[in-house]
Amino acid sequence: MKAIVFKGPKDFEMQEIPMPLCPEEGILVKVEAVGLCGSDIRTFDVGHGKLIPPQVIGHEVAGVIESTGENISDFSVGDKVAVNPIIPCGHCDYCKMGFGNHCQELEFLGTTIPGGYAQYVAIPKVALANDCVIKITNNLPMEQVPLAETTASVICMGVGKGDTVLIFGAGPIGCLHAVIAKARGAKKVIMSEINESRLDLVRRFTSIDVFVDSSQQDVHEIVLAESNNLGVDAAIVACPVGLVQEQAIDMVRKRGRVCFFGGLPINNCHINLNSNRIHYDEIAIYGAFAYAPKDFIEAFHLISEGKVPAAEFVTHILPLKDIAEGIDIIKKGLGIKVVLKPWD
Ligand SMILES: [Zn+2]
Ligand SMILES: [Zn+2]
Repeated sequence: MKAIVFKGPKDFEMQEIPMPLCPEEGILVKVEAVGLCGSDIRTFDVGHGKLIPPQVIGHEVAGVIESTGENISDFSVGDKVAVNPIIPCGHCDYCKMGFGNHCQELEFLGTTIPGGYAQYVAIPKVALANDCVIKITNNLPMEQVPLAETTASVICMGVGKGDTVLIFGAGPIGCLHAVIAKARGAKKVIMSEINESRLDLVRRFTSIDVFVDSSQQDVHEIVLAESNNLGVDAAIVACPVGLVQEQAIDMVRKRGRVCFFGGLPINNCHINLNSNRIHYDEIAIYGAFAYAPKDFIEAFHLISEGKVPAAEFVTHILPLKDIAEGIDIIKKGLGIKVVLKPWD
């Protein structure tokens, strides 16, 4: 089969590799669509701490079951499925606490096990046992399914009713934060983005009230004007930039919340924080990473029922072999979500 093999930072290519076998008590999925995720682009650039090359990466998988292993009763050959790539064991301490994303034996499709930038992907038994495979029973276009993974990662954010929210970074994650914040009753969403063409692209989202071009405008000034001079209730940093994380702390009101959402490159992940602002103004800074199986299921249903406008996010559908072009589109801010098709 054809697959994109990651061999090391800035080194990947399409190769002909053996088709995976159907795992015992697992399933083999023929990949119909796979999302190009910002985290994959970071892996292509600098590698990933939990990944040993060579590896087939890609984790936002939608496909059709090609074959099933033993003792599979809930799924049949031909079923369309969405796959949650964060596969917890279901029995460790974190899994028992409900935080499957921190599972001590976590398998991550496209990182610890081969992923979806390929024509077929093997889904192990543990994924089925922990509700990581969802059957698609309506005619949701397969190109929209990969957005479930991105949505899952933002739905557990603590943004709520009446909040004024500032989001840094108008990529798919930032825009999903805007959609989910509004769905949860946020009063106002301000989007700050440094890339002008990306900012223009996201003007299509009615969930965003104020657009800030941070290359031209003073974000702090606009934040104060939009928040009765207090600062926003919550700031979400949805871009992988340490300087923006530092800046975000000055954007929230006293007792405001700052979420660090985007991971920083592994070789450059230390920042300088204004500790006094955190202490005197009682600022809460917290992280958010990934999701538990129940969050993925909720996210899939938000997409499937049209509550998240997935079609507005998917700006480009390309053959998998053109992945480099997709990466370029995202890096230049010319697209929101790029979805790749391994059989085109
Ligand atoms: Zn992703
Ligand atoms: Zn576990």
